[in-house]
Amino acid sequence: MSKQPVTVIGLGPMGQAMVNTFLENGHDVTIWNRTASKAEALVAKGATAAPTVEAALGANELIVLSLTDYDAVNAILEPVAASLSGKVIANLSSDTPDRAREAAEWAARHGAKHLTGGVQVPPPLIGKPGSATYYSGPREVFEAHEETLKVLTEADYRGEDAGLAALYYQAQMTIFWTTMLSYYQMLALGKANGVSAKELLPYATMMTSMMPHFLELYAQHVDSATYPGDVDRLAMGIASIDHVLHTHKDAGVSTVLPAAVAEIFHAGMDRGFAENSFSSLIEVLKKPSA
Ligand code: NDP
Repeated sequence: MSKQPVTVIGLGPMGQAMVNTFLENGHDVTIWNRTASKAEALVAKGATAAPTVEAALGANELIVLSLTDYDAVNAILEPVAASLSGKVIANLSSDTPDRAREAAEWAARHGAKHLTGGVQVPPPLIGKPGSATYYSGPREVFEAHEETLKVLTEADYRGEDAGLAALYYQAQMTIFWTTMLSYYQMLALGKANGVSAKELLPYATMMTSMMPHFLELYAQHVDSATYPGDVDRLAMGIASIDHVLHTHKDAGVSTVLPAAVAEIFHAGMDRGFAENSFSSLIEVLKKPSA
């Protein structure tokens, strides 16, 4: 059976990787990008460059979007909304859950079906084993196109709500950005003290490799809303984070990040959690109950 042809709109690093992967797996691929020159190398490999967005939409039922955000999605699709009827939009562009829900409703009003996607891996891992993408939206639409979408990565279907894939993606990115910033903070401290990134690397790796243990333990605290101080006490934690803050201050590096962390610890102390685990800080962070 011949493989499903697909249209890819958006040829940044991620879209390029997706087109290459579809081509390598024998799919016909029609492409369109605002900056037309980004299509040239892909055309040389067998992709078909559509002259207009309408032509790109007209070529295939399955339309993969790989754009910076939903502003870019709207800028491209709103002027050609009349061409969307009958299309399946696999929107692998990042944005908020609410914007994904709005986009799904907007697509439905124009006769199109919308799958939200959140790619979990960087472009070099597209098409590689172990990579995955969050999906959400109508299950039957996902299942009808799952085989083709799985050419790019494994598919991690999260549910019918269009916002879910975006929610999981943003949750993941919360860890990514803050963890990476804490790593750069560590390296800035090292640099200020004549210790190179290479020298610190094994210790950063050791610290992050211990994290699964902490994540599992504190998930239990958070889901049960009990924060026993049998392993760690917030009063100990605040002394530690204050040492961290002062070490960075003494080194003359930015203290924005450790100061923000210390502020959250102090708020936990103000709430009376001194004898609880620092997992009690979820009470400071979570949405206040009505
Ligand atoms: P880029 O931002 O580099 O490129 C995205 C594409 O969006 C380009 O084709 C660009 O067109 C287009 N675009 C942006 N604004 C507009 C606009 N106003 N009108 C028309 N086209 C527009 O993103 P990536 O390729 O890196 O990523 C694509 C998506 O995948 C993003 O949502 C990103 O968050 C997500 N992602 C990326 C990862 C990564 O490591 N790169 C990892 C996981 C997810 P033009 O070429 O003309 O500028």
